[in-house]
Amino acid sequence: MNHSLDTAAWTAELPAAPSADKALKIERETHKLEKRLCRETGKAIVQYNMIEEGDKVMVCMSGGKDSFTLLDILLKLKARAPIHFDLVAVNLDQKQPGFPEHVLPDYLRSTGVPFHIENEDTYSIVKRVIPEGKTTCSLCSRLRRGILYRVADELGATKIALGHHRDDILQTLLLNMFFGGKLKSMPPKLVSDDGKHVVIRPLAFVAEKDTTRWAAHRNFPIIPCNLCGSQENLQRKQVGEMLRDWEKRFPGRVENMFNALQHVVPSHLLDGQLFDFANAKATGVADDNGDKAFDTEEFPTPSSLPGVQVVQIG
Ligand code: SF4
Repeated sequence: MNHSLDTAAWTAELPAAPSADKALKIERETHKLEKRLCRETGKAIVQYNMIEEGDKVMVCMSGGKDSFTLLDILLKLKARAPIHFDLVAVNLDQKQPGFPEHVLPDYLRSTGVPFHIENEDTYSIVKRVIPEGKTTCSLCSRLRRGILYRVADELGATKIALGHHRDDILQTLLLNMFFGGKLKSMPPKLVSDDGKHVVIRPLAFVAEKDTTRWAAHRNFPIIPCNLCGSQENLQRKQVGEMLRDWEKRFPGRVENMFNALQHVVPSHLLDGQLFDFANAKATGVADDNGDKAFDTEEFPTPSSLPGVQVVQIG
C-alpha cells in the first residue's frame, strides 16, 4: 500500500481541544487554527502526492511568515505521518544590506531541524546588472532558483518545498490573466525545466490570513522582506488588496475561485490545444453532463449570498 496516499493518516485530527471555558477561548481558537493548518497541508500533500516514503524535503526559508509556518507545520506532520521522510531547512543569504544573519540559524537550531545556510552575494550582481529604478525581482529570483537547485543536489534533497499559499496562487492566476494573457497560476507540484527537481507547495490550500495568525501566535522572528530596497510588486499588491476586499464583501467568492482551479472544464473554454473543437461532431448519443449550450447558467442571486444586502435603486 502506498502510505503517502493514505488521506486519513495524514489528516488525522489532533487530540481534542481543552474543555470549553471562557478563559480558554484564545487557546481553543489557536488549537482550531493549528488543526486547520495541519489538515489543509496534509490534504494538499496527499492530493498531489507531494511527499513520498524516504523523501528528503528541502524547505526553503526566506525568513518570512509563510516559510516559518511551512517548516513548523511540516515538522508537526512529520511527527505523525504514516511514512518516513526527512526535512532540511535552507536559507539563501543573498547579502542584502542589514540582513540579520544570526536570526535564522538561531531559530533553526532551536527547532532541532538540520539546516544549511548558503551564502551567495546575488544582491551585488543584481545591483550591478539592473539599472537604477528598474525592477530587480526577476533576475534576483532567477539567480536564487539556480542556487537553490544546486544546493538541493548537494544536499541530496528529493523535493524542494516553497511557502506559497492559496492567496499567492490566486494572485498569480489573476496577474497572468490581466498582464500575461494566459490562464495559469502556480502549480502545487512541478518538475523543474531541467527535469531534475520536484518543487512542491504544501501550503497550497492554506489561506494567507492563517499563516499570518500562526506566525503571530508562534512569535516567529520574521525578517523584513524589503532589505534589498526593491519596491514591493505594485500589481501583485493591488490584486492582493482586491481579493481581500472581495473576501470581506462577498464571502465565499475567493474560496469559489480557488475551487474553480480544481474543476477545469476544457470543453467550455477556448483552447484548441486542450479540447479538440475542430473534430467535435454530433454523436447521436445523449450526455446528461454534456452540452448546455442554450441554457443560461444558474448562479446564486446576490441577495441569496450570505452577508449581501440588495439595495433597490429607482
Ligand atoms: S524583493 Fe528583493 S530579494 Fe525579493 S525577489 Fe525582489 S529583488 Fe529579490
